[in-house]
Amino acid sequence: MHGRILIVDDVATNRIIYKVKLDDAFYEPLLAADGRSCLAIAREQRPDLILLDLVLPDMPGTDVLRELRADPVTRPIPVIVLTASRNAEERLAALSAGADDVMSKPVSDQILMARVRNLLRSRGETGFVSSTWGMPAHSVLGLAEAPSGFEVAGRVALVASQPEKALRWKHEMQGVMRDTLVVMSREQALAISSPGEVGGQPVPDVFVIEAGLDGPAGGLRLMSELNSRPATRHCAFCIVSAETEGKDFGIAFDLGADDVVDQGIAARELALRLRILIRRKRQADMLRASVEDGLRLAVIDPLTGIYNRRYALPRLAGIAAQAAQEGSDFAVMVVDLDRFKSVNDRFGHAAGDHVLSEVARRLSDNLRISDLLARIGGEEFLVALPQTSFADAERVADRLCAVISETPIRLPDGQGLRITASIGVAMGPSAGHGSNAIAALVDKADRALLQSKSAGRNQVTFSQTAA
Ligand code: GH3
Ligand code: MG
Ligand code: MG
Repeated sequence: MHGRILIVDDVATNRIIYKVKLDDAFYEPLLAADGRSCLAIAREQRPDLILLDLVLPDMPGTDVLRELRADPVTRPIPVIVLTASRNAEERLAALSAGADDVMSKPVSDQILMARVRNLLRSRGETGFVSSTWGMPAHSVLGLAEAPSGFEVAGRVALVASQPEKALRWKHEMQGVMRDTLVVMSREQALAISSPGEVGGQPVPDVFVIEAGLDGPAGGLRLMSELNSRPATRHCAFCIVSAETEGKDFGIAFDLGADDVVDQGIAARELALRLRILIRRKRQADMLRASVEDGLRLAVIDPLTGIYNRRYALPRLAGIAAQAAQEGSDFAVMVVDLDRFKSVNDRFGHAAGDHVLSEVARRLSDNLRISDLLARIGGEEFLVALPQTSFADAERVADRLCAVISETPIRLPDGQGLRITASIGVAMGPSAGHGSNAIAALVDKADRALLQSKSAGRNQVTFSQTAA
């Protein structure tokens, strides 16, 4: 893995030690000796991760963190704070100021590198836009709001080797966090099967799992299993380790844990770390949802809810390719509403829109799931019927004509309006299934449509041109 890592430490030998370690692991190190240069380099060069010493000559490390988090450009950069102090308040202050992790020096190389890989990996998952638009995904999509005072409570599942232990965690945590804490057995966690809910309850945002659950490394196995399942793979995982030397830590980070803590951790620190995981997970959820929305919007016509032209043409190419492979016939139809301009002229554009939606609904209700229906122009629809003979295509086309014209469309003001459509049909297989062949096929259906129009509208014409 490749990444640029900014090392911030006022002691030159420390900078050199970390630089050598990172060089060896094929990262590109950047160096800063004080808080101001850290902020300047972070803004200008946007490193992929920052290793920050808390004690700096010009300003406290926590102020550096706060400034990094206040600027949308630097906000998404993960920061690992390295501190010589074991003072609990200092650790809490660093986490509150926006550190992704606080590690006490001396940190074992193995654990530090595992944590670096881990944070770079999760940044890769949510920061993908950065390379495309030169901006972090969160800020492009407006998700980079600084943590506000009000945050939605999350759900935390506690999975320990004995229920009493999980209950003890629950009691300790309850006093210091307002998120919902649920004790869960390994089996209950594995029984979660739907992405939205578990037994009527939302799926947890975070699983806190004891590493030694069900034998050594059982907790890590449970995490890997949950991480691979659709229902739970977007959850965050915090592993609680009993290993005093932290051997679990490196493995857990590499297996995808979002945080790893020692079982002796203070409840307040754990609460703070879980809050960070919940916040990050919620942001990732929002990011995923907006990407999914974006993809959906790119292929769906917002007025009628059916596919648009952009989706229709490649899909038609797919239908043609499959037909060629199986040696089956398929039909392509262009359906155009008759004298639609006069609907707008007489009843207004909103009434016209209503008619378009209703026609789309009628067409959709009279097609198979495997058929393609798309709006490819203002009042023009494309229908493709895979595995369909000439005779079947004729029946379907006549039916579509009939379902549009037979029942008047009721306008929002109550009056009924009789609408008709003309249809042109071309039969595949075509001469090929590249984009030219597909365009030629649609063109044939279009020419047949014109014949329907000139022959008096409200009728179906098949293209007679050889395929
Ligand atoms: P023909 O029978 O020859 O097809 O006549 P026509 O009036 O249907 O055809 P023409 O192409 O002249 O007009 C199409 C009209 O469709 C013009 C435009 O105002 C209307 N139209 C296109 N898109 C929309 C839309 O999204 N909403 C509404 N309300 N009208 C639309
Ligand atoms: Mg038209
Ligand atoms: Mg028309």
